[in-house]
Amino acid sequence: MGASNCIFCKIAAGDIPSMRIWETPKLLAFLDVGPLAHGHTLLIPKQHFESILDVQEDVLSSMARQLPTLAGAIIRATGATGLNVLQNTGKSSGQEVFHLHVHLIPRREGDALGYRWNAGAYAEGQGEAMQSRIIGEIPS
Ligand code: AMP
Repeated sequence: MGASNCIFCKIAAGDIPSMRIWETPKLLAFLDVGPLAHGHTLLIPKQHFESILDVQEDVLSSMARQLPTLAGAIIRATGATGLNVLQNTGKSSGQEVFHLHVHLIPRREGDALGYRWNAGAYAEGQGEAMQSRIIGEIPS
């Protein structure tokens, strides 16, 4: 079920240690070893998928269903006042481990964690052109 040499497959299989906090036969949540904030957690499917581009829909659904429970537990345990849910797909997005994972990152006011959010703008007609292009790529 695992991809050879995938560190998260090895964690899922218990072949290398991790700080596990929740699991089912199909999913696992464990602490990120390089936390952006204490309590930073990763949720993965035990089966190997690279990203949201190749994951099975039912697997992704089961991950999504678990997010409220995990988020609540992390917020209560850390005393955080907010939380970012983040999923990187592809190297250009910052993905470093090519086994699907969702980050749950506890946040609090003034934690200085933020990321660049350089909002752009559309020139006249550009937004509508982009809207059409994306709509055209959605399989019916
Ligand atoms: P990403 O950049 O979205 O691929 O995130 C990969 C994350 O995996 C990083 O935040 C790493 O700190 C984390 N990570 C890498 N190796 C391990 C490990 N052995 N145990 C826990 N977290 C890990």
